[in-house]
Amino acid sequence: MAQVQRMSRLMVKTLRDDPADAETLNHKLLVRAGYVRRTAAGIWTWLPLGKKVYENIARVVREEMDAIGGQEVLLPALLPKEPYEASGRYEEYGDLLFRLKDRKGADYLLGPTHEEIFTQVVKDQCSSYKDLPVILYQIQTKYRDEARPRAGVLRGREFQMKDSYSFDTTDEGLAESYALHRGAYQRIFERLGLDYRIVSAVAGAMGGSKSEEFLAPAPAGEDTFVDCPACDYAANTEAVTFQLAPVDGSAHGPAEELDTPDTPTIETLAEHLGVPASVTLKNLLVKVDGEIVAVGVPGDREVDLGKLGEHLAPAEVELVTAEDFEGRDDLVRGYVGPQGLDKVRYIADPRVAPGTAWITGANKQDKHAKNVVCGRDFEVDDYLDVVVVEEGDPCPNCGTGLKLDRAIEIGHIFQLGRKYADTFQLDVLGKEGKPVRVTMGSYGIGVSRAVAALAEQTADDKGLCWPKEVAPADVHVVAAGKALQTELALDVAEKLGAAGARVLVDDRAGVSPGVKFTDAELIGVPQILVAGRRSAEGIVELKDRRTGEREEMTVEEAVARLTA
Ligand code: ATP
Ligand code: MG
Repeated sequence: MAQVQRMSRLMVKTLRDDPADAETLNHKLLVRAGYVRRTAAGIWTWLPLGKKVYENIARVVREEMDAIGGQEVLLPALLPKEPYEASGRYEEYGDLLFRLKDRKGADYLLGPTHEEIFTQVVKDQCSSYKDLPVILYQIQTKYRDEARPRAGVLRGREFQMKDSYSFDTTDEGLAESYALHRGAYQRIFERLGLDYRIVSAVAGAMGGSKSEEFLAPAPAGEDTFVDCPACDYAANTEAVTFQLAPVDGSAHGPAEELDTPDTPTIETLAEHLGVPASVTLKNLLVKVDGEIVAVGVPGDREVDLGKLGEHLAPAEVELVTAEDFEGRDDLVRGYVGPQGLDKVRYIADPRVAPGTAWITGANKQDKHAKNVVCGRDFEVDDYLDVVVVEEGDPCPNCGTGLKLDRAIEIGHIFQLGRKYADTFQLDVLGKEGKPVRVTMGSYGIGVSRAVAALAEQTADDKGLCWPKEVAPADVHVVAAGKALQTELALDVAEKLGAAGARVLVDDRAGVSPGVKFTDAELIGVPQILVAGRRSAEGIVELKDRRTGEREEMTVEEAVARLTA
């Protein structure tokens, strides 16, 4: 028999007003409906209703991870620093890491993610190729000292993550483990009732090759992604590529110098010449591992330094300063053009394609040049996607104008490769009797964040509105107030429970029907069953929380309907 929870005994205190510090919908509603309580910035207590939703999500995650052969383990959150020093992440994480000392002065940290420890576990437990492949997972508390712990449980400093790790002996094996996770994630998010997109991401600090993110579109999200309205292309803004398409440039006249006094910026130049910024070529100078490099993009576009950094990693990218121009007669600040940069590596955005003509610096003070043709007057050393993506940019797949949207990152899957296996010398004995280096994947789902993402996507102006699989109950029975109505409500609740439904019944005495209805809508159980006006006849009213549709029926009909 499923549980019948009486509101008269449930620890829940709903609030009419939004908490003062809450900016996002999920934060406001989860606090007001009594699901969570803030203990400190980014640190949350899960109250009974919140714990139920959290556990429902965790259950779905466990079922689907078990279905792909994942084995559940539980690693500690309190970790020695040495493994993270070995991987370099003790330093790399910087302020994000919670560090602490024990009584003897030894250094520890609170785990932000567990690649290092899982690698050590497998090194200890698996010795032969016959022990692999293996998928290990845990649902566990993570710690990150986030700079802006906002938006409630969406971004905590303590939060719950499902993290899993795959260990294979071959690249094909890794691809297979990755595909298994991708499928499991699709099933998980579908069952949870989340609207999501899979976008290709840049692997970044984790190292490794292939990586995709699962994004739940929502205004409260902190990630921006591009979405094609015409095809199924979606990508993290950093991962968008633009096709290099050479054009015929033979009709352009010869390059010509222009007098452009006092025009060191694109704005001043465009205004002086009365042309749009898009016909000018902007040449940004940066230092890459100390060497000056020029980056060419159309004058109306911004260089995304993060993207540039990702492309050139592990090289360091910095902006140039006035001192860098000392002794460099070839570099005329504000009037740089690629046609005069023999000694400087020239990186360009694919929009600066062979055959395109530009107005750009003439490498002389107060002079620019027009009809400067790519491939004729200057050469591009490397094409890299370096501009900030804008709404309307062409889809790399089909050419349609892209849309920019905000989303919450709910999951992330990575092919890590051998980075951690190299650090910890994780080998197993291969078929030929020789050691084989293991290759790894790592896969995360924000389980506590999923509570917030679901709240964001499903709530309406009355309150929370959970999909059935995650809701804290299947049905919320409301007794309108009189003794007879309470009696009927408790009776129908018992019958529903006996038939297998999870029931919340509002049997509170001395609470007005209006308050009970408002609370039921705020709490967001999918079906609301009211013992009201026609209780004496054994007639109840069933209301769909989402659509607001109401229907009167007998108790027997209601039980049959809700437990079908
Ligand atoms: P973000 O970019 O949002 O900081 P991340 O890319 O650093 O996240 P991962 O290291 O990929 O996060 O962690 C795996 C998953 O854990 C994320 O996809 C997200 O769902 C969840 N997660 C990460 N940080 C937090 C946090 N501070 N609070 C709640 N969930 C989080
Ligand atoms: Mg991520």
